[in-house]
Amino acid sequence: MTAPMTASPSPVMIPANARTDPAFPDNAIVIEGLTKVYGGKKTALKDINLTIPRGRFFGLLGPNGAGKSTLINILAGLVKKTSGRVSIWDNDIDLEERNARCAIGVVPQELNLDPFFSPREALEVQAGMYGVPKGERRTMEILDAVGLADKADAYARTLSGGMRRRLLVAKAMVHTPPILVLDEPTAGVDIELRKQLWDYVRSLNTMGTTVVLTTHYLEEAQELCDEIAIINEGALVACEPTTTLLHRLDSKSLSIQVTEHLDSLPPALAALGAEIRDSHHLYLSYKPSHTQIDRILAAVRGAGLTINDLTTEETDLEDIFLQLTSKNRAGSISP
Ligand code: ADP
Ligand code: MG
Repeated sequence: MTAPMTASPSPVMIPANARTDPAFPDNAIVIEGLTKVYGGKKTALKDINLTIPRGRFFGLLGPNGAGKSTLINILAGLVKKTSGRVSIWDNDIDLEERNARCAIGVVPQELNLDPFFSPREALEVQAGMYGVPKGERRTMEILDAVGLADKADAYARTLSGGMRRRLLVAKAMVHTPPILVLDEPTAGVDIELRKQLWDYVRSLNTMGTTVVLTTHYLEEAQELCDEIAIINEGALVACEPTTTLLHRLDSKSLSIQVTEHLDSLPPALAALGAEIRDSHHLYLSYKPSHTQIDRILAAVRGAGLTINDLTTEETDLEDIFLQLTSKNRAGSISP
């Protein structure tokens, strides 16, 4: 849940049509030297520097325990940072707390909803908390957008996990924030409803809302985000456009079992980077964007070998983490 506002709220409402106005800040979120140490001993974030430009669909990726929720909860005002500076929509979270809070809508990782509030009531209460005047509330419009219009008056406790998640998205949008942050939003949401959720979030982004999404699913980030940051053990290990990151991911491995006994590596296969794993197995990693699997198989056959079986493997996020963290330790994260 979004943290309750302290003094009586009189938020700066940002008109929806002005989100793309060049008068608005170039950067939605600027984080400098952000560190969080829980209880004086558990370091969850280490000197994070991160800039999220306005209008992006930004992905924050990392394995469980990386520090994603800690970072999001600092933005939401739910967790107090240990040191560093954070500015949201040009508002320092320490100096202009209320304006910073009003510029952001956060969908938390936990599905914490008051079980006795209907979606309509939950949105009305949230709008009240942000000081949205009754005449300007868009309760039914938002419920409709997240596919909950027919559940407007149902108790939240009767809603499925997917519906609750969508209600949380709706709650985060009542004050029309120019920045929407979603912390692992697809946990417990089935494929059909996930698509509906993404369609809605995508449409918000198309209209100018900056979206920040945390996930540990690379594919999800890959499909939606135009820029991805990776954090691991509280440290930022990469931040780059999705296409650049995918280029690094452009790697598959292939294991080929052949009938013949392999004594030496045929030159055509050596040229492709193949290795002999054992007397009947060849192994090679290749870049699908450069090398067609056909060419590899043709080279195997061209060397007079008979393919018995083969398996391919994509590089997964795990590999990228390993790659990035080991390179990071060596002091470089460039490809
Ligand atoms: P993620 O969202 O990437 O899974 P979190 O931000 O939830 O990661 O957690 C980062 C690290 O901080 C983890 O090691 C977690 O155990 C620890 N942590 C999170 N919240 C607290 C807390 N309230 N007190 C102590 N440690 C915490
Ligand atoms: Mg988390």
